[in-house]
Amino acid sequence: MKILIVEDEPSLRELIQHALEKERYVVEVADSYATGMLKLEDYDYDCILLDIMLPDGDGLSLLENVKRMGKKECVIIISAKDSLEDKVSGLDLGADDYLAKPFHMAELSARVKSVIRRHHYNGTACIDIGNVKIFTDTYQVQVEGKVLELNKKEYDILVYFANRPGRLVDKSTLAESVWGDHIDQVDNFDFVYAQIKNLRKKLTAGGASVEIKAIYKFGYKLVVE
Ligand code: CA
Repeated sequence: MKILIVEDEPSLRELIQHALEKERYVVEVADSYATGMLKLEDYDYDCILLDIMLPDGDGLSLLENVKRMGKKECVIIISAKDSLEDKVSGLDLGADDYLAKPFHMAELSARVKSVIRRHHYNGTACIDIGNVKIFTDTYQVQVEGKVLELNKKEYDILVYFANRPGRLVDKSTLAESVWGDHIDQVDNFDFVYAQIKNLRKKLTAGGASVEIKAIYKFGYKLVVE
């Protein structure tokens, strides 16, 4: 899961970034309206944390743009003003949640978890796919009740596919989501291939009824047998 933080205050931005990285999210940051817009034009995220008062623009109009672009990110507004008006406008524009500053990192992380769960996992903490269960609270994967040991990247890749069963995914989109936005600068995606190869091996050995199929020259898709 990849999160974009749009926040101009450096200390708060770093605090949030570290807190979310500890929760195993891939975190990207933007310190202004303009940077946020550029990032959102080029990349997709699972969740956006959006400050309203930015030095060069209004977070609410950034939110409007996100919705106009047809993007699917869930959005949590983080605002210094605990104003009912901002809260209502934000929710009206399609924000999923609103958190007034100052807030405790534990609360932010609980809200992020809950919004992502609602948005991506149909409200539960467990993704069921074929005979595989992914427990997103504990990062545990089970095949018919037996634990499948995966490393962090293998787990993230599996969750990515489990949220998009049957959908063709190209290597660069997958890499951006699991490794971060910078990954589109690399010369080749052999590291993606290596992780997927290991994940496929583990799924097969564990008796999983799901398979990540390679689609020649394009990428991969997850199929349930
Ligand atoms: Ca601000």
